[in-house]
Amino acid sequence: MKIIMLGAPGAGKGTQAKQIASKYDIPHISTGDIFRANIKNGTELGMKAKTYMDKGLLVPDELVVDLVVDRVAAKDCEKGYVLDGFPRTIPQAEALDAALAKNGENVEFAINVEVPDENIVKRMSGRRACVACGATYHIEHIPPKTEGICDTCGKELILRDDDKPETVLNRLNIYHEQTQPLIDYYNTKGILKEVDGTKDMADVFNEIVAILG
Ligand code: ADP
Ligand code: AMP
Repeated sequence: MKIIMLGAPGAGKGTQAKQIASKYDIPHISTGDIFRANIKNGTELGMKAKTYMDKGLLVPDELVVDLVVDRVAAKDCEKGYVLDGFPRTIPQAEALDAALAKNGENVEFAINVEVPDENIVKRMSGRRACVACGATYHIEHIPPKTEGICDTCGKELILRDDDKPETVLNRLNIYHEQTQPLIDYYNTKGILKEVDGTKDMADVFNEIVAILG
């Protein structure tokens, strides 16, 4: 089961991808999480990626594509995976398709989590992420049991730098210019599935499960 999550930043891709990964027992691969882990560990990739991420820009394709192509070739991806935050450009999608085609494989589901722009800034300014395990919450919609503390690991929750409103607007513009064209790309391939991301988290997940079977 090879799944791609599409949608604006803050649409709920990560929230849903984690649940999909757990229900279908496949890895959740988030390029944003991979970059943030590299930044935390001070790697060269992390330092390069940070200069783009801080401005709300996309990290260049050449820094992302090989990383994902290698990751999906790993043993734990044999049964499939859910990609969250990749592809974000047409060249990334083409590179993934070309790499999979070499082994006679293809993406099976591209799930577009639809949320209008006017909801996004609110979603992102309320998002809190755990500094240690990366779990995400929303201060109003999906609050942790204790304010500022991760339910899963007990560490501190923070507002990501790139979730501040001025950066979010940049990210939304870039989403419309560079990532939204992927909706047509996967529609043409006949694998696009749309879900209403404005519903409650559990209702969105039910819609997705109805699609995946
Ligand atoms: P993405 O991975 O698409 O950037 P996230 O999954 O991190 O987005 O979700 C963005 C924010 O919105 C988070 O704070 C998350 O807790 C919250 N959120 C996710 N899904 C819903 C939902 N269905 N309703 C309300 N808030 C949600
Ligand atoms: P995310 O956690 O998915 O919201 O990603 C956070 C940031 O990481 C994005 O705003 C980009 O700067 C960068 N990023 C993540 N995935 C990609 C990708 N596939 N292509 C380019 N940049 C990416």
